[in-house]
Amino acid sequence: MKMPICDICLKSGLLCPVCMERVKGGAVREEDIHYLRRMKGISERIKPLQGIRIKKLVNTNSLIFIVCEKGSATTIIGRGGTIVSSLSHALDKRVRVVEETDDIKSFLEMLVFPVPVLSVGRVYRESGETIRMRVPAGERLPLSEGDIKDAAMSMFGQEIEVVTE
Ligand SMILES: [Zn+2]
Repeated sequence: MKMPICDICLKSGLLCPVCMERVKGGAVREEDIHYLRRMKGISERIKPLQGIRIKKLVNTNSLIFIVCEKGSATTIIGRGGTIVSSLSHALDKRVRVVEETDDIKSFLEMLVFPVPVLSVGRVYRESGETIRMRVPAGERLPLSEGDIKDAAMSMFGQEIEVVTE
């Protein structure tokens, strides 16, 4: 598994200039690098994960988002979720795998899957711009609104509000 932090820095706990830039760029918070180290360790024993590239790790109160390259999510999840449960066990936290995208709507759809997203639109307020996501009322979202907000803020620097209808 290829991590956003190089192997040397993962081992040493110090950051080279390249990794320092990646931390500044938001790939991972410095205090969360130990999660990448643990993932790296366990991934060496899981064959399908060889060559898989992790772009970002977002740690929220209740879970860890692993952001991977487009097309790699199903590999990281594994058949019946076996691989993702090993990762979750190793990290001692719930894990959700999402693929990298520039499109906030696709990203939100991945976050709340299998709940459908009815619409995503911009709302302008005095305090600034917010992205409003509408989901059907009565559906149980797989993530809390706080986790959705944290993930969107970390990926897109955007405030999100979730509205049911
Ligand atoms: Zn490094």
